[in-house]
Amino acid sequence: MSTKLANPPIESGENPLRKPLQYLKGVGPKRAELLGRLGLFTVQDLLYYLPRDYQDRSKILPIKDVIYGSTVTVKGKVLDIGLRPTGGRKTLLEVLVADNTGTIVATWFNQPFLKEKFHKGQEVLLYGKIGSYKYLQMINPEFEFSEGEESSLFAGRIVPIYPLTEGIGQSYLRRLIKRAVEEYVPHLEEIIPESLQKLRHLMPIHEAVKEAHFPSSMEAMRRSRRRLAYEELLLLQVALALRRSKIKLEKGYAFSIGPNVDAHIRKLFPFKLTGAQERVIREIRSDMQSPRPMNRLLQGDVGSGKTVVALYAMLAAMANGFQAALMAPTEILAEQHYRTLQRYLSNARVKVSLLIGGSPNRKENLEALAEGEVKIAVGTHALISKDVRFKKLGLVVVDEQHKFGVLQRAELRLKGHRLATANSTSDVEVRPDVLVMTATPIPRSLSLSLFGDLDISIIDEMPPDRVPVKTLWMSRKKLQEAYEFLRCRLREGRQVFVVYPLIEESEKLDLRSAKEGTKWFQKYFPEFKVELLHGRMNSTEKERIMLDFREKKIDILVSTIVIEVGIDVPNATCMVIEHAERFGLAQLHQLRGRIGRGAEQSYCLLFAKPGSPEARKRLEIFTGTNDGFTIAEEDLKLRGPGELFGTRQHGLPDLKVADLIRDLPLLTQAREDAFRLVEADATLKGLSLLRNRVKERFASRLGLASIG
Ligand code: ADP
Ligand code: MG
Repeated sequence: MSTKLANPPIESGENPLRKPLQYLKGVGPKRAELLGRLGLFTVQDLLYYLPRDYQDRSKILPIKDVIYGSTVTVKGKVLDIGLRPTGGRKTLLEVLVADNTGTIVATWFNQPFLKEKFHKGQEVLLYGKIGSYKYLQMINPEFEFSEGEESSLFAGRIVPIYPLTEGIGQSYLRRLIKRAVEEYVPHLEEIIPESLQKLRHLMPIHEAVKEAHFPSSMEAMRRSRRRLAYEELLLLQVALALRRSKIKLEKGYAFSIGPNVDAHIRKLFPFKLTGAQERVIREIRSDMQSPRPMNRLLQGDVGSGKTVVALYAMLAAMANGFQAALMAPTEILAEQHYRTLQRYLSNARVKVSLLIGGSPNRKENLEALAEGEVKIAVGTHALISKDVRFKKLGLVVVDEQHKFGVLQRAELRLKGHRLATANSTSDVEVRPDVLVMTATPIPRSLSLSLFGDLDISIIDEMPPDRVPVKTLWMSRKKLQEAYEFLRCRLREGRQVFVVYPLIEESEKLDLRSAKEGTKWFQKYFPEFKVELLHGRMNSTEKERIMLDFREKKIDILVSTIVIEVGIDVPNATCMVIEHAERFGLAQLHQLRGRIGRGAEQSYCLLFAKPGSPEARKRLEIFTGTNDGFTIAEEDLKLRGPGELFGTRQHGLPDLKVADLIRDLPLLTQAREDAFRLVEADATLKGLSLLRNRVKERFASRLGLASIG
């Protein structure tokens, strides 16, 4: 019994592109389920399911010209068919094919059922590899009978290669898509306005989808993919532009930051700001002065001086009678920020409080905050908990320097907003300003696609007193030498970080661990104080050790990746990274950011045994540059955006055609175009097809449910 009859598939007037695949010829419920595994549910999905590759089989070779070892297409008549056993239960099917230049035998092993398909006198196209056994043969070729006018699917043309799943074969999918293209492409709507098609020289949608599947030439295929990639990027950028225009409609506080306030704040800084700091402060100031809420991402390499910039903003909010919140990703970092702020503010009468789990006077702190006595609250995301109330919150700074996942970053930004919303005071919703700081440099292509709705400020300059860290990848044979080098630095009064990938020995991995390492360093450096810090310690213990290290009661701090968080101990000028091949580039860069924070020359010594060319490349890149943006770009190239941010968890838009690395120029164009469209008319009137498609794809993801 067929369910097809019981359920008429399509109501008249319904969009045929939405038709479930089950109702297509040759599909049915079981195949439909398998196709579902490929993410294919509707006709539209199928039309946009692009080949992962193509093979150019457009050239048909005269049989006399085939050579051993090549993979070719030939066309000829079937002259003879033979099936014979070859021992055991094995069989060999041989089909003799001739064109007017010669003959060749096509052979298939153990597929006796194919015999029925061939008939003498038939025209056949064969595609396969030429082997030889006594004479030239084509081994297990793909074949197709070239009857009628119907154009060939797999030979004598450029052939699409689709990603498959079990139960869905290449030729089945090709045929299915071929039929879908023929029948349904006319229903596809052009969502790209004509002006943009002209401006960017884009192929019309019907042609683009056809050419993407069954290209008439490699050049046409490339143009069709460009068009489809552009479409995808345009949708994403329109979504971001719409969201941004929505944010811009919200009401914020217009702070006043005049020369007096400015001068007052600067007096608290014991150094001259760098040009880059000045520039981003100008950008932030202008956001804060505007009646729209600030939504700004502040990017800057580790140690580039973001904290000072954030402090400037917080003090500016305070000068206007508002409070500020600073959210850090971990308690250690929150404490450190707290300490740093206190240091800068030691001559100012500003009450800062630290709100983390288990602070002894939490209750009083919360009261003081609610009364407006405390001006700056520093904490982790626990700041968002219900009992934390501000009197008049004007600015939220979110620091997330140790998080690599973009998704977490987006989450933190949301948290910033949530904190901001929860603390809106007036009846009309007025939003505090939000500044997100990140010390993970983000390649431009990614920041444009992920944070396209934020304004971005970049600190691309280090404070002037910095001496670039020297990084040396050392052979284990030089261990003694390396340790003696460390001893010299220690004798000069400097401190050392030692980093291991693991806390304890593991049975599975043959790696040195932090615990072992601690003992080893204690033995080798008896005259110095060596201590272990790791993530499984409770926070009081961690705090005690960090404090001791900061106060130089500890000379060598052996640790795991936990110290990658923005710990600031300028006297620590050396770092040893054991098994450096185990760390990602971004992690290595963050680790190295712990040293080189003062005026002394710092040294990063790596011990590594890269097990793959990629690991070796990583280490070469790392030793070759100190620049975080260069490292991030290289990392992106090496691993691709998905990998870079952890699969599926990366929060990246699910792009099917566009490639964020390769298509950066196209992305930039799509972005320009999208922002221009939305600026001209944020309701996208007259572009309803485009608007609907944006909603379809991004509404839930980007909180755009309310557009249009
Ligand atoms: P980030 O947060 O970007 O990692 P910080 O704000 O913690 O960097 O700054 C790193 C160090 O550089 C701090 O010790 C800070 O006091 C110092 N610093 C920041 N800006 C300057 C500057 N313009 N000149 C000299 N030192 C600076
Ligand atoms: Mg900092």
